[in-house]
Amino acid sequence: MASIFTKIVSGEIPSYKIAEDEKYYAFLDINPLAEGHTLVVPKREVDYLFDLEDRELAEMMTFAKRVAVGIREAIPCNRIGVAVIGLDVPHAHIHLVPINEGGDLDFGKPKLTLSSEEFRTIQEKIQGKIR
Ligand code: AMP
Repeated sequence: MASIFTKIVSGEIPSYKIAEDEKYYAFLDINPLAEGHTLVVPKREVDYLFDLEDRELAEMMTFAKRVAVGIREAIPCNRIGVAVIGLDVPHAHIHLVPINEGGDLDFGKPKLTLSSEEFRTIQEKIQGKIR
């Protein structure tokens, strides 16, 4: 059965898309740790990030870098934190999270609840900064 992220990539499940290219797709996390929390996924369904071929992993990181630069320009923060967890969704993904201190990357923290209008505003802000 297709993973939830494969369904997002195909458009079967809606997402707040940030960017895509032929092989990778970035969209806002629906339960964000911070405004601008974005997931980057390969379109090819692979369970875990480090199951990817070396070349794919390198390409995905380069794509994630382009997205992270855009997030950092759009959302005031010190850094874009990078995390790989993958315990909930068995489709490789990288979390990109705007952070100001190390504790901001604590996935045990309560998540933000944002309205669809707030998600759309964040989406547009970041999209406008992606090159
Ligand atoms: P993990 O597999 O532990 O890295 O967590 C999966 C992440 O995917 C969580 O942060 C979820 O909030 C996020 N997520 C799950 N379903 C969706 C969805 N439909 N749209 C956006 N983000 C999602």
